[in-house]
Amino acid sequence: MRLAHLDGRAVLMTSDTTAVDIATASNGRFGRTLPTLYDNWKSFRAWANSFEPGSAEPIPVERSKLLNPSPEPRQVFAIGLNYREHANESGLGVPDGLPPVFTKFATCLTGPDTTVELPAGGHTDWEVELVVVIGVRAEKVTAAEAWNYVAGLTVGQDLSERISQLSGPAPQFSFGKSFPGFGPVGPWLVTPDEFADPDDLELGCMINGELVQNARTRDLIYPVSQLVEMLSAGVPLLPGDLLFTGTPSGVGLGRTPQRWLRGGEALRSWIEGIGELNQTFVDSSQPHPSQGRTA
Ligand code: ZN
Repeated sequence: MRLAHLDGRAVLMTSDTTAVDIATASNGRFGRTLPTLYDNWKSFRAWANSFEPGSAEPIPVERSKLLNPSPEPRQVFAIGLNYREHANESGLGVPDGLPPVFTKFATCLTGPDTTVELPAGGHTDWEVELVVVIGVRAEKVTAAEAWNYVAGLTVGQDLSERISQLSGPAPQFSFGKSFPGFGPVGPWLVTPDEFADPDDLELGCMINGELVQNARTRDLIYPVSQLVEMLSAGVPLLPGDLLFTGTPSGVGLGRTPQRWLRGGEALRSWIEGIGELNQTFVDSSQPHPSQGRTA
């Protein structure tokens, strides 16, 4: 099942370009918005599994009208240093125990195809990531049971401004990764049963057609099930919460010389079996926040 957020409505995708409206198709049993579905995930899944797509009128899906498939997450978790080669290229090393956990503030989340303003004077980097959407409240869940608490998977970009992220006595991961538009997510949620192996998906991204990241999620140091176990041991995970699982190697920070996104560049990010995100970047005329306070 592919679940999307089309122009404010929760829809089931019936092809890459058509969908059915869930509130209409269910005769009002389920609400119009995605958060109401996540709050009733088990009964919604049961209904969707028995739903006949031909029984409802298809509506056309324009990509420009697709929004973040979890538009109001109460929590957004993001994991750092979760691929060995990326941990090495970042110079921060492979985590021993719980990997770095930070948030992307919810205001940075967007749909899949956007234009993003680059903070002036900043070093904006790319990080394609598998993103998990939680479907059932998870508290002290074991890795063996973890997938039962997952609604589905989607594609995310953990765009990161490295000067802000790494400055100061303690790195500012959450601030440096939460500028407007720095959290594109989509194009839709795909339920785990749609994959031959949801723990082994190819992912990658390219800038103006040049491949810069390409890996498989089987190389995650902590796979989805272990992340759910580790996080839910300390913090309840709530329906609709997003979990950015970490990025593989190939980011601009780890290159010699280092490379940052520039105005006019186009970034395409994808995950096998899910879909793609498309970002284009424009320069900003505003001063960078690290350039000091104005008097
Ligand atoms: Zn990341």
